[in-house]
Amino acid sequence: MVSLRSSGPLAVGGPLTMHLAGAETNVAIGLARLGHRAAWVGRVSDDELGEFVLRQLRAEGVGTDGVRRDPDRPAGLMFLERRTADLTRVRYHRAGSAGSALHVDDVRAPLAAGARVLHLSGITPALSDSAREAAAFAARAAAAAGVTVSLDVNYRARLWPRAAARAALAPLAGYASIVIASEDELDLVADPGADEATAVAGLLRRGVRTVLVKLGSAGARAHTRDGVERLAAVPVTAVDPVGAGDAFTAGYLSGHLDGLDLVDRLRRAVALGAFAVTARGDWEGLPRRDELSLLTGNAAGTTL
Ligand code: ADP
Repeated sequence: MVSLRSSGPLAVGGPLTMHLAGAETNVAIGLARLGHRAAWVGRVSDDELGEFVLRQLRAEGVGTDGVRRDPDRPAGLMFLERRTADLTRVRYHRAGSAGSALHVDDVRAPLAAGARVLHLSGITPALSDSAREAAAFAARAAAAAGVTVSLDVNYRARLWPRAAARAALAPLAGYASIVIASEDELDLVADPGADEATAVAGLLRRGVRTVLVKLGSAGARAHTRDGVERLAAVPVTAVDPVGAGDAFTAGYLSGHLDGLDLVDRLRRAVALGAFAVTARGDWEGLPRRDELSLLTGNAAGTTL
């Protein structure tokens, strides 16, 4: 999706800057920056905006063979309105967009190509019936093929009510090995109103191996059958919170692909979340592998 950022109130106009945005693309870029092979599967418009999305992904080293150009539908747009210095408002123009027309047939070939991990966000199933079917099909097929399925709940209140999200996402979580959620999203993959302990117990019973709970500037918790690990956030100056969760996911999946143990996976996740909030943009500030220790190595300051 294309995001258009304002530097002030939208109603008075002024310049907008154009960026690639999207939960799954953010995760794919985070992984590619760290040197992993990552590909994004989806639909983009067959115009300059679709071309922009493809060029950004290619520039970041993300595979685009599984991207379909849709000649009949426009690009999905998101306005990020900097209404005040402290308040950014989001406005979607994505109903009927190319991305929302994702279909089961779009994901068959990329799935057949194989991968070690399939990452899904809870946003895609919110976009349309066909996108929801495609996400469910992908999760089912990947799990059956022994691929690790990762699901970030990523609830977006502007896209669907909680009950509808739960009806789609709770079954999806049954195919996942890794479930990622904020504290207030956990009951969307459990019974309504379930607390963290109950939701986590239910997920682990259904075969999920790791439940990651993102806590913003307080860090994160990771639940497994062996118990819970907690990690504080890396102290940084936060300038833009957007994209922190996706960066966290990319860091965790990178650690998973590298075969790190749970605490080190969590460390990398928390480090990437910190990188994301220290730079403007969803993914622009994410580190290359040789930069991983920039925030966590010696005390911050000038690196000579
Ligand atoms: P989301 O973007 O999905 O709401 P969070 O805000 O919980 O996710 O952020 C994800 C992770 O990013 C957190 O678990 C934390 O490790 C890191 N993070 C978020 N905010 C900050 C911050 N202000 N300072 C340092 N790290 C942060």
